[in-house]
Amino acid sequence: MAPKSATKSKAKPSSRKSWKSRAVTRLIEPGSAVECMHCGDRVKFQARLRLQQVICNIYTKGRWDHVEHFHAECYDEADQPFGEPED
Ligand SMILES: [Zn+2]
Repeated sequence: MAPKSATKSKAKPSSRKSWKSRAVTRLIEPGSAVECMHCGDRVKFQARLRLQQVICNIYTKGRWDHVEHFHAECYDEADQPFGEPED
């Protein structure tokens, strides 16, 4: 396991200049009403299963365009089209 830096600040010395599409993993929240871009099913909250979804922020030509949601499994199945999801 990689050691986590416990800083609260998000200010990383990053040289990321252009925004590009990226993916994050999140728990599915109650009331979620989005559809998986891969299988087309609802990304549904289930109380006893702490299911995860992958949320992708899609950037087109350097500008934020839209968000896509996947079941975590579907995202893997789709071969991680927007890169490895971050937490
Ligand atoms: Zn799916």
